[in-house]
Amino acid sequence: MKKIAIIRCEKNMDRCPLTNCFKCLMGTEEGFEIYEDCIPAGVFTCRCPGDVAVDLSKILKAKGAEAIHFCTCTFAEKKDKGWFMENGGFCENIDEIIAKVNKETGIPCVKGTAHLPKDYRIKTWS
Ligand code: SF4
Ligand code: SF4
Repeated sequence: MKKIAIIRCEKNMDRCPLTNCFKCLMGTEEGFEIYEDCIPAGVFTCRCPGDVAVDLSKILKAKGAEAIHFCTCTFAEKKDKGWFMENGGFCENIDEIIAKVNKETGIPCVKGTAHLPKDYRIKTWS
């Protein structure tokens, strides 16, 4: 059973309590379909400009997280007919942030949690 942590964006922290992120994690759906089984290991909130993500990830790793997923709303936005990547999401630098977390902590990282945009292929750093 994989222990999976989530990092969300502060720009959405007062609007979404990660409802679909957790639903998908517990059901191994969407961004979590890469696991046979997984349980939550913890959640942290990134804060701009994102430098804190490495330290937060070190703590998550120390607490037992085996991988960290970054929320879909960091790179996609909701429209009438679903979630789309054309205009990005809350974070312009999410790929750089994820790459830095992976490089400096060694923990596998995954871009995406719930409601993945159509045709998005799950991107991982391992
Ligand atoms: S990815 Fe969706 S469910 Fe998760 S925090 Fe963002 S808006 Fe909420
Ligand atoms: S750096 Fe990106 S992910 Fe982190 S809080 Fe700012 S916009 Fe959100």
